[in-house]
Amino acid sequence: MNTTPELQTAALPWQQETWRRLYTRLADGKLPHALLISGIAGTGKQLFAQAFAMLALCRHRENQRACGWCNSCRQFSAGAHPDYFYVTILEDKSAILVDQIRELSQNLTLTSQHSGRKIALLAPADAMNTNAANSLLKTLEEPSADTLLLLVTARPARLAATIRSRCQDVRLPPPDRTTVLQWLNSRESRHDWPALLGIAGGGPLAALRLTRYRLIQERLQFYATLVELLNGKRNPLACAAELDRETLPVTLGLLQSWVMDLIILASIGDADRRTIVNTDALDLLQSALKGINLRALHAYLKHLNEAVALVATSVNAQLLLEGLFLEWADGLRTLEAAPLAACGG
Ligand SMILES: [Zn+2]
Repeated sequence: MNTTPELQTAALPWQQETWRRLYTRLADGKLPHALLISGIAGTGKQLFAQAFAMLALCRHRENQRACGWCNSCRQFSAGAHPDYFYVTILEDKSAILVDQIRELSQNLTLTSQHSGRKIALLAPADAMNTNAANSLLKTLEEPSADTLLLLVTARPARLAATIRSRCQDVRLPPPDRTTVLQWLNSRESRHDWPALLGIAGGGPLAALRLTRYRLIQERLQFYATLVELLNGKRNPLACAAELDRETLPVTLGLLQSWVMDLIILASIGDADRRTIVNTDALDLLQSALKGINLRALHAYLKHLNEAVALVATSVNAQLLLEGLFLEWADGLRTLEAAPLAACGG
């Protein structure tokens, strides 16, 4: 059992309304045995579920929050609450496995150490393999008294209908952009949050996580390299070798945002620069546009999206990057003869 790195004692600003509704049900003793907490990736669903678990276990709730100082809260904060079980994908595994669910089910049948409820958080719930899901179904069909299961997922449709039908839906709404930007700026003001949000796909927590990567801090340099590759000034294989394998998803995310910006500029020109993500890289984007055309960009984006889908598998990062850089440097140029206007969308 452990907890996610960042502990919240209450909901994030864009989750307040959902929090208030759930709190009311908790206070009225009307919580079901299982909640399916869903919402878009990178918006803090798991932090929400974790904070709610802490609240539901707290002995001295204050103002719709966990008190933070009672015995239960202190154990929870230390990642050692005897009635709280966190189930996620184990290291070196690609799914939540049946043994983990069996162990959880067993733990849930034991008497609560605090004479209260027992709570399990499963995240990402859609990562359960078929056997694990079948095993969880038994627990959902015959729940022990005073248990609360929190299933967290960005892809609820991937869960079996039999599981979904036994949980009550808690859908966290997509966060409002102004609130998110305010929150991010209050955390750290030195980043270009609109750009990072765009690269992260709109999730504020995902944007926050991106700042850990040096590649993100050196984003403009990375884009300059892409322009140099197009101009034949750099060797694609050497450039691929310079990149850290660990940051493959971040590299691909940057490439996606770069190519999508190019597609916008190639399609609508400078008409509305606000629609692009990398507004601070406009000069570099314009330089890149001189060497490529829209059709080639669409084809490249397709390959890029296929590459992103491969990241979850045990793909060879080096080969993947080499392929993408070679195609960027050479493949796009082979199509440059076609005039932009003739390419269509
Ligand atoms: Zn407490």
